[in-house]
Amino acid sequence: MTFTGNQALRIHEPLIFEVGHTEATGVDLPEPAPHTSRLGKQARKAPIDLPGLTEPETMRHYVRLSRQNYAIDLGMYPLGSCTMKHNPRLNEKAARFPGFADIHPLQPLSTVPGALELMKTLSHWLLVMTDMKAVALSPKAGAQGELAGMMAIRAALKARGEDRKTVLVPESAHGTNPATAAALGYRVEGIKAREDGTVSVDAVREKLSDDVAAIMLTNPNTCGLFEPEVAAIADAIHEAGAYFYGDGANFNAIVGKAKPGALGVDAMHINLHKTFSTPHGGGGPGSGPVVLSERLAPFAPVPFFRGDELVERVGDAQGGEMPFGRLVAFHGQMGMYVRAMAYMMSHGADGLKEASEDAVLAANYIKASLSDLMSVSFPDRPSMHEVLFDERFLKGTGVTTLDFAKAMIDEGFHPMTMYFPLVVPGAMLIEPTESESLASLDIFIAALRDLAMAAKRGDTERFTEAPKYAPRRRLDETRGARKPVLTYEAPEPAREAAE
Ligand SMILES: *Cc1c(COP(=O)(O)O)cnc(C)c1O
Repeated sequence: MTFTGNQALRIHEPLIFEVGHTEATGVDLPEPAPHTSRLGKQARKAPIDLPGLTEPETMRHYVRLSRQNYAIDLGMYPLGSCTMKHNPRLNEKAARFPGFADIHPLQPLSTVPGALELMKTLSHWLLVMTDMKAVALSPKAGAQGELAGMMAIRAALKARGEDRKTVLVPESAHGTNPATAAALGYRVEGIKAREDGTVSVDAVREKLSDDVAAIMLTNPNTCGLFEPEVAAIADAIHEAGAYFYGDGANFNAIVGKAKPGALGVDAMHINLHKTFSTPHGGGGPGSGPVVLSERLAPFAPVPFFRGDELVERVGDAQGGEMPFGRLVAFHGQMGMYVRAMAYMMSHGADGLKEASEDAVLAANYIKASLSDLMSVSFPDRPSMHEVLFDERFLKGTGVTTLDFAKAMIDEGFHPMTMYFPLVVPGAMLIEPTESESLASLDIFIAALRDLAMAAKRGDTERFTEAPKYAPRRRLDETRGARKPVLTYEAPEPAREAAE
């Protein structure tokens, strides 16, 4: 340990409450003139106890914290299913044009024709790429897009006078699928995967009844496999009077290659922050437009585009639309629409297709380069954009998937997605995306080969002690999640000393 606790230029950073203190302030203000408070009973009785810091102290605190963050601009981020691809700087430039960045959601429509044109163009291309009929851009995350799509399904069933109560969800599904269905009051019925990691139409048929409202199916699925029976599953679902919700989070594997609408999907969210390169942001600027088939288009939440026509308010609906309402206050994440549009236009149709192909190629390159040392879960099917390994290759080594992931941190990589999907033990789901160069893939592969060999050699400490070089070592993640400490309480040195 160093005298200061710092490691070279990586500086140990305490909490802001420990840096500043309540008596200090970064600004000098004149004493307020005597006045009578108009706050009545609302006036504070005790000081607010916020830490005061000088401007340089404040700057340093936040910049130091930001430097402890890992980011896609720092290195590879192979989280499967999350699609951490490069965020092109051209997108950022376009998003900052004042005509997009400085407009207000309450401006009259006549003063923002450019923004509306961009939303219309984006909607148009989303509909072309998916072969769907309507799109609501407004959902602010994939999960909210799922909610929108499932609410449209519920509204369509209600319009038919049906009260179906069950939603089918394959066991490899992302947690948001059953959560969405449950949040809407549906009973979730799991569907087992076959040995080869895919869902069979027979398994779906077994669960079908006139109580089934929908199936929620991800394709390519979260094992990175294209569902070979997807069209037959769609037919079976439709025959039973139910709807096909397609989880579109993995759309980036098939853009330009396959159209979900043609596969029978009725509703699908598109994560702009996955497929169309907009930044993922800690719960912030996600964007999950939902596209709907002809059958569901009438039930889209406002505002939505049906073809090129914008339906803005529930009362504006013409042509028989019955929007179920409004999900967000205004139009959604305008800045993300601009970024996604910039990405589409800079790639063009051929470039978008090539991006899908390169993402699939990169995942299969990793699979081929590691399959002699690490256990590939479903070796007989070609991977799409992500490749799934499991813990079998670590058997008898004393190293777990979690240890392996922690050792990757020491090697300078963000770990892959672990323990998801749940269909294989100790899952490691790797999605390199198209934005990694061959050189970067090779370093990643070499590091994983070295780790796999070290585990097999019995160099267990390299794993169980990891991460050794991160700002924090192993945290008690379970306690952190179950009993988070969300308020700061100052230590009371005087009292402690007296006791
Ligand atoms: C990311 C993801 C979601 C949820 O999307 P968010 O934008 O994170 O809310 C749903 N399903 C799958 C398969 C995903 O990968």
